[in-house]
Amino acid sequence: MTEPFIRISDLRKTYKMGRVAVHALAGVDLEIPPNSFTVIMGPSGSGKSTLLHLLGGLDRPTSGHLEVGGQALESLDENALAVFRRRTVGFIFQSFNLIQTMSAMENIAFPMRFARIPRASRRLRSNELLEKVGLTDRATHRPTELSGGQQQRVAIARALVNDPQLILADEPTGNLDTSSGASIMQVLADLHRSGRTIVVVTHDIRMTQIATDTVRLLDGRIVDEATYREATAFAVGGSTQDADAAPGQSADVASAPS
Ligand code: ADP
Repeated sequence: MTEPFIRISDLRKTYKMGRVAVHALAGVDLEIPPNSFTVIMGPSGSGKSTLLHLLGGLDRPTSGHLEVGGQALESLDENALAVFRRRTVGFIFQSFNLIQTMSAMENIAFPMRFARIPRASRRLRSNELLEKVGLTDRATHRPTELSGGQQQRVAIARALVNDPQLILADEPTGNLDTSSGASIMQVLADLHRSGRTIVVVTHDIRMTQIATDTVRLLDGRIVDEATYREATAFAVGGSTQDADAAPGQSADVASAPS
């Protein structure tokens, strides 16, 4: 049997808000095989982004074990964690996070400056990546001159600069119309085919069609499909539909001041 690429056991993240403890992750156990495409679904506030941030080494767990590519993230110091983020992970966000004053090409080349890659190589690599996401003809365009879908493709190209094994995407189609969203899914499917491990947080049910695994979160815990359906369904004209309503927060003090 193949070794998992990601191993998570009894992972917990608790945020303290004054006297209130919010259990964003309340004991998550999960194994993700290499070269898989995992979709994480869950109502707002169920802990999806928290899980993704911990996986990418952007934040640290309160307790539990989290291993990516054989590295136990809880044992890494800040420098080692920064190296892990740079070498192993490519992040894609809902809001693209592009630098508005830079062209598509410059946005992609920018992270390479910090890796002290010479200018000529930066150009070459940016061109390669632009081609990979089908944007060669938009190299000199700034974000405001690109559609949402094109901006997200630039952001994906930028995430690929260091050839990461793991791609983490937080609602990558959340700001896009249906057809731009579909083209982003195609890019993610291609990345998966080329051997990367993909983990996507999404509300977009279409993503489950290209995924190899689906993880459902409720109140900071992984639940099975039946439990998830029951908790997120609501009655509309006699039928039931999935809803994106948070079925209550897992907090020590229910009446938390907001
Ligand atoms: P999701 O991505 O599923 O919407 P999150 O992981 O963002 O959920 O949040 C899970 C819970 O943790 C929510 O109740 C949220 O309010 C809380 N939370 C997330 N980040 C923080 C933070 N930095 N400080 C305090 N509470 C937080």
